[in-house]
Amino acid sequence: MVRAIVGANWGDEGKGKITDMLGEKSDIIVRFQGGSNAGHTIINEYGKFALHLLPSGVFYQHTTCVIGNGVALNIPYLQREIDDIVSQGVPKPHILVSDRAQILMPYHIDFDAYEEERLGGKAFGSTKSGIAPFYSDKYAKIGFQVSELFDEDTLKEKVVRIAEQKNILLEHMYHKPLIDPDELLETLHEYRDIVKPYVADVSLFLNNAIKEGKTILLEGQLGTLKDPDFGIYPMVTSSSTLASYGAIGAGIPCYEIKDIITVVKAYSSAVGGGEFVSEIFGKEADELRRRGGDGGEFGATTGRPRRMGWFDAVASRYGVRMQGATEVALTVLDVLGYLDEIPVCVGYEIDGEVTKDFPVTSQLKKAKPVYETLPGWKEDIRGITEYDKLPENCRKYIEFIEKELGVPITMVSNGPGRHEIIYR
Ligand code: GDP
Repeated sequence: MVRAIVGANWGDEGKGKITDMLGEKSDIIVRFQGGSNAGHTIINEYGKFALHLLPSGVFYQHTTCVIGNGVALNIPYLQREIDDIVSQGVPKPHILVSDRAQILMPYHIDFDAYEEERLGGKAFGSTKSGIAPFYSDKYAKIGFQVSELFDEDTLKEKVVRIAEQKNILLEHMYHKPLIDPDELLETLHEYRDIVKPYVADVSLFLNNAIKEGKTILLEGQLGTLKDPDFGIYPMVTSSSTLASYGAIGAGIPCYEIKDIITVVKAYSSAVGGGEFVSEIFGKEADELRRRGGDGGEFGATTGRPRRMGWFDAVASRYGVRMQGATEVALTVLDVLGYLDEIPVCVGYEIDGEVTKDFPVTSQLKKAKPVYETLPGWKEDIRGITEYDKLPENCRKYIEFIEKELGVPITMVSNGPGRHEIIYR
């Protein structure tokens, strides 16, 4: 049985916590896209962790954690994250890395920073993890596949060819230090030695596991609105954030993904630039940011303050639809307990007309939020474990959102801890 867990919004919906929870019941947990550019925050008996590249299943001994072919594999980062969790008392996790995953190179990180520097005020607000240069190279067919690390002749020829090409840009466009092919080859040898114990034919492994009836969890990063096709292009990430891409980024048949749990946040937050119709500012935003998440809404990777907003039913319904959600997990609901009334964005006004359908970016730029206001519940709902015990206005808020989404909300998260969840 394959399940996917993905985000409906701008990311940071609290997927890490839900994944960690579901991971407990899974045999295999797979990362299928992205790289170390986003982060999950996980709180468990070992402590509090911000995972960037490792799948959330690394805390369990009964799970195999897989880095699929769709991931941007930063090898020293992988090593560091493994060392980090082990040094905090977590038993050494079982990890497999796809032989078809491509390697995020040191120059991808450099190019990411150089390009943001060159763009100055027009920068994308990249996390500078090298993700955009990495995927550009992958599709330009000048990337390094993990399997190539074990083919010395290819490697030797390729470092010269790549250095030649990259050095033209480094010298003439960015005026930065050049790549030395011998040094690059040495780096790749180090990478080979680090990654060797984990390398496997992941697609074959997963297909066999499906046949054996194993429970597999595909773990998405970011959310629908950061998808390069369906998100707020160009302020998006460089690999697909959709559950469908899980089939490609892991190497399994798409019809095997039976359950798509889509995480929706009870209010909105976003890191980096881009369209955000229900964004709020000033004191109102500061208060929500301060109370949000677990100790405030600040980026797990960058520490940047997140942009804040009210729940956006237009964006979230679209987010859920593009994921193909079979069920929804609504998170951080406890945070809203301080409000007398809660605005919910139920439509976008564009050129004098109200729409409930999420439009393309050029239209989105003109959209103004249309709000409906719901009464607050003015109560701390943490610690409640049964749906019926929630305050009436809180249930009404959940049911209002469910109606707007058109997909059943099966889980409500009312605290950052792993077991702070209400099943419906
Ligand atoms: P992800 O990228 O989707 O995994 O999101 P994050 O890991 O950045 O999660 C956002 C933050 O919200 C983290 O600090 C979580 O610990 C916290 N969090 C998750 N679920 C809840 C919840 O239901 N209530 C509260 N208060 N915090 C939560």
